[in-house]
Amino acid sequence: MHASKYHINTLKEAPAEAEIKSHQLMTRAGMIRKAAGGIYTYMPMGLKVLRKIEAIVRDEMNKAQAIELLMPVVQPAELWVESGRWEQYGAELLRIKDRHNRDFVLQPTSEEVITDIARNEIHSWRQLPLNFYHIQTKFRDERRPRFGLMRGREFTMKDAYSFDRDEASAQASYDTMFDAYMRIFARLGLEFRAVAADTGSIGGSRSHEFQVIADTGEDLIVYNPASPYAANLELAEAPCLLAERGSATEPLTKTATPDAPKCEIVAEQLKRPLTDTVKSIVLATGFEGKPEETRIWLLLLRGDHELNEVKTGKLAGFENGYRFATEDEILATFGCVPGYLGPINPVKPITVIADRTVAHMSNFICGANELGFHYTGANWGRDLPEPQVCDLRNVVSGDPDPQGGHLALQRGIEVGHVFFLGDKYSKALGATFLEKDGKPAMLQMGCYGIGISRIAAAAIEQNHDDRGIIWPLAIAPFDVVICPMGLQKSETVRNASELLYQQLRAEGIDVILDDRDTRPGIMFADWELIGVPLRITIGDRGLNENIVEIQARRDESAAKVPVEQALDFIL
Ligand code: ATP
Ligand code: MG
Ligand code: MG
Ligand code: MG
Repeated sequence: MHASKYHINTLKEAPAEAEIKSHQLMTRAGMIRKAAGGIYTYMPMGLKVLRKIEAIVRDEMNKAQAIELLMPVVQPAELWVESGRWEQYGAELLRIKDRHNRDFVLQPTSEEVITDIARNEIHSWRQLPLNFYHIQTKFRDERRPRFGLMRGREFTMKDAYSFDRDEASAQASYDTMFDAYMRIFARLGLEFRAVAADTGSIGGSRSHEFQVIADTGEDLIVYNPASPYAANLELAEAPCLLAERGSATEPLTKTATPDAPKCEIVAEQLKRPLTDTVKSIVLATGFEGKPEETRIWLLLLRGDHELNEVKTGKLAGFENGYRFATEDEILATFGCVPGYLGPINPVKPITVIADRTVAHMSNFICGANELGFHYTGANWGRDLPEPQVCDLRNVVSGDPDPQGGHLALQRGIEVGHVFFLGDKYSKALGATFLEKDGKPAMLQMGCYGIGISRIAAAAIEQNHDDRGIIWPLAIAPFDVVICPMGLQKSETVRNASELLYQQLRAEGIDVILDDRDTRPGIMFADWELIGVPLRITIGDRGLNENIVEIQARRDESAAKVPVEQALDFIL
């Protein structure tokens, strides 16, 4: 690729609305252009990044025996009615009508269509297991699409769906996908963590998220440095809840490690409906940095993830991280206490050790009729009072942390999510097959998503500096850029640049030669902003000494390399 024949249009300023680095930098680097809120054109260089991510995902999916197909973006409402999600999905589901007034949806995910395929295509146990996937445009009418590709309304997702004879084999399919995901994110060159997660509107009984570690992540994950335990905080409180309850008059003084029987009891309690109107409660307290800024949030949620009422207030006396709060006190501070909310017993908080701060997370058990139920989802210290919300009905107990004690805290960006679905969709759509004994049985399912376009944004959140993006090599728009100095004036420079360019291309390196003949300062600034991992500078002065300069994007200074060794140096 020659830059003069390519399209490069970098901007000095990011649009005012771009709040996070990836949005700012992708716009400034000319990788995306906004068409409408949460809807973008992937410009040539942005598209190259996405294609490289797709190629890695596709390769690992194929290696894991998943089979590619392509399902439609526009899907008939009938299937969504059958699954129940036409009613349940809420405002994120974009519904459209055709000229005959028939209802359709723009797919946010494809469980319905693939289950329909399965019920028509899979007849016998002999065909199983099967795993179908596609990489396709998704549409979710997100409430606040304000983070560029991070939370688009139209975005690209890889979604795979496994079909098995029984639960054990479905679990094996789940494990295969889990392993494939571990390989994918390692190959992408990202620092990530797999965590236990909530199943959200997809449903199912178990799930894991793959989180790219970044300070700007919307999710908060807790993990135990001394054990494999890791969970999205949305879910992480479930095991904490299993800690012994404090009595009405006396808080617990130790952080208890939950045990198995209690785990089951609480999981049952969590599944109980609360009331018809109030579906979940979020209670959180904590401080970041200054104990005197301890706040408590009380949120009443109505329906599916719809924030009904948000009350925030500050309760005095939380300086030590926890204490009792009486109903009267809460009433005085927040102006409301639901009838069934009894005295709140804070359990001794887990001490969460983050990189920069030691935060105390208090957990509450709201005692009404001896019934404990649980909040979840404090969005810690950022964007308040708009917390991550998690419906209590979907919370299942996470794996208890076997080590107990101190947990570490990290922010993460959810880039992948695997779900064990069981027969949720096959039952709703009647997707059966004939077992060996000739009797019909329900297909056991799993589903597995990866946010292709979100990965590009997440990679930038994790890898950037003041000058711009620092792409991991595997997904950089170009591996190498050649920057000739004074190309028009010097034939020597022109020839040396062109020769090296051809040699690199012959080796399969994705290289661009910047023959725009711009000033070096502008040229360098462009490529640092765009984030190409390696830059080769070729000028008359260097060539006189028989050297070119090779600069890695992360390094402080360039290496001076003899011209004839340049190729080997790069390979
Ligand atoms: P989030 O919690 O961020 O809203 P989700 O849990 O709703 O995501 P899933 O239904 O699990 O998302 O979808 C699978 C993957 O699709 C996610 O892990 C994420 O990588 C990606 N994804 C989901 N929503 C978006 C979006 N609005 N923009 C870009 N990628 C998205
Ligand atoms: Mg979502
Ligand atoms: Mg999520
Ligand atoms: Mg998810």
